[in-house]
Amino acid sequence: MPEPAAYLSPVPWKEIRPDTAIIMCVDGRWRPHVQEFATGHLGAEAHYDIVAVPGGIEPLTLVDLVPKDFNFLRRRLESLVEAHGTQRIVAVAHQDCAWYRAKDFSWRRQDPVERQLTDLRRAARWLRETFPDVAVETWFARRGPETSPGVIFDPIV
Ligand SMILES: [Zn+2]
Repeated sequence: MPEPAAYLSPVPWKEIRPDTAIIMCVDGRWRPHVQEFATGHLGAEAHYDIVAVPGGIEPLTLVDLVPKDFNFLRRRLESLVEAHGTQRIVAVAHQDCAWYRAKDFSWRRQDPVERQLTDLRRAARWLRETFPDVAVETWFARRGPETSPGVIFDPIV
């Protein structure tokens, strides 16, 4: 069996670390829109850092319920901010998130999107307390009107 051919990416290497990290869900349907939003609207470098797990920031809300999950993400974010000198963290949640749909919030009569917004705000509080020198923003991505193929990003405060 022949060896696989090496591949040389034509994208120029950038040594300088980006100042922005985006915490998002792994759902690839939203990634092109997040990429365009990050560079086109937020002014982030195209090679911003990404922290992606299913459900995005959700583990940051689990310090009491699932501390292992919380600590997994906490340790990695602390390491990232220290090693890369991150100056801005942008947390993006999205409509129709399979992670949130799979969780049953009906017992607390909470819609998954409401839960996502609550979690974004809670995670943002933790991020601001933990990294007081880092700017923290939270956004929710949702499908645009049927007449538009695009995605809307709403700031969550
Ligand atoms: Zn998702």
